[in-house]
Amino acid sequence: MKPIRTRFAPSPTGLLHVGGIRTALFAWLVAKQADGQFILRLEDTDQAREVAGADKHIMDCLRALGLDYDEGPDKSGDFGPYRQSERLNIYKKWAQKLVDSGRAYADPYTAAEVQAFREQAQAAKKPFLYRNHRPENSPVWDGTKPLRFKSEPKPYQWQDAVMGNLSTPPEVVDDFILMKSDGYPTYNFAHIVDDAEMQCSHVIRGQEFLASTPNYLNLYEALGLEQPVLATMPHILGETGNKKLSKRDGAKDVLNYIQDGYLPEALVSFIATLGWNDGTEQEVYDTNELIKNFRLERVQKSGARFDEQRLLWVNGVFLRNMPIDFLYTRTLGTKYTKAGGFWPDEAKDADEDYKKQVLGLVQERLKYFAELPELTRFFFTDLAVNTELITGNKQLKKIDKTQLHHLLEIARLDLEQSDFSKEDLTTKLNGLLESTGQKPGILFSLIRIATTQSSASPGLAESLALLGKEITLRRIDSQLGVL
Ligand code: GLU
Repeated sequence: MKPIRTRFAPSPTGLLHVGGIRTALFAWLVAKQADGQFILRLEDTDQAREVAGADKHIMDCLRALGLDYDEGPDKSGDFGPYRQSERLNIYKKWAQKLVDSGRAYADPYTAAEVQAFREQAQAAKKPFLYRNHRPENSPVWDGTKPLRFKSEPKPYQWQDAVMGNLSTPPEVVDDFILMKSDGYPTYNFAHIVDDAEMQCSHVIRGQEFLASTPNYLNLYEALGLEQPVLATMPHILGETGNKKLSKRDGAKDVLNYIQDGYLPEALVSFIATLGWNDGTEQEVYDTNELIKNFRLERVQKSGARFDEQRLLWVNGVFLRNMPIDFLYTRTLGTKYTKAGGFWPDEAKDADEDYKKQVLGLVQERLKYFAELPELTRFFFTDLAVNTELITGNKQLKKIDKTQLHHLLEIARLDLEQSDFSKEDLTTKLNGLLESTGQKPGILFSLIRIATTQSSASPGLAESLALLGKEITLRRIDSQLGVL
């Protein structure tokens, strides 16, 4: 059997979003599960659209997600270079082969004339199909004119690993441009040459290339190439599910998610299930399970809805299932995240053991690491008393300040008697509910605000136990001072 070699072939024209990464992930999974190779090829033949730094961004995204490639622009490999702009001689050689065999010709028309043909077709409400091969008219190809493929239109039937059986009439095949007058190949030509030279077994890509596939099939034949497995990805739709995902839907570029402290394995699991499932109800996969279970044939044909809330949920599932020591190492970040990790600055000098205990308390509620400072700052520093926490609290704002002051004073007296073990604090807090006749929504909210300066925190007894008696009482005193 032919070795499995898949490729991800992005154009460095912008930041990589979930759609692009899903294509990369599926190609990576197909290679991994067959012990094959995964190749990164940068398709940078459209100089006008190139964005500086996009190549590095793409490589960082892949690495940050753990989608390591075996061959690529910054790696060795037997089939390089892996940047199309460095392969111009290769395309020229293949183009010449087509010229020599009578399957390519220099365009006899100027760009303006071709544009006029296009407009004529539009006026007649017909698709623009260029088939103007006139051997007697064609100048010798010297690179200054576009080089066109001399197509041999015919009907096609082919199998797409995702879309199934597809067929087209001969009319859709035309004499498309192979080489532009600037010496660069078109995508349509370059990818066929590269996939052949790099011995790619699969072409996994987005839907925008589906309409041109009959042209590619015609070119494979002209070059005597075996057709690789073709797999067309379904669209990714915005949250409402009725149009293609766009930046406005809130989808960030992939590195942004990493920088916000989403776990690579959660992103991978989430992205894999955008249009794929293994036939069971399972919603979260670790990467090894994906490698084992992924099948192109089970990728759905219809669009997949992008739901960021589900990503948050998946990330939370991974976070909650991590042993604390491991979770802690993950909060320290990687080279793709902010130096110093995700902890608040105030935690700089705190010891590791204390931070792990803090983490244990917030693990249930943490959805992604960028929330860590907000959720944990009070464990590391006394925050200034924020009076709005009380005036903005639905229940507390109804009670007058003197009464709140009185309640907090009673609480202080009882807490002072505690040994600050979690058990004893629980007993004392419950005792206070009884002795004051207040509901937890009032009494515990008041103590929580006084000791954490936030309206939500992990369990009150656990939090106070970790803060300790001195800090707890000091903070209550500060709150009493402004009540
Ligand atoms: N360079 C093309 C793109 O970025 C890749 C298509 C392919 O994978 O062949 O859309």
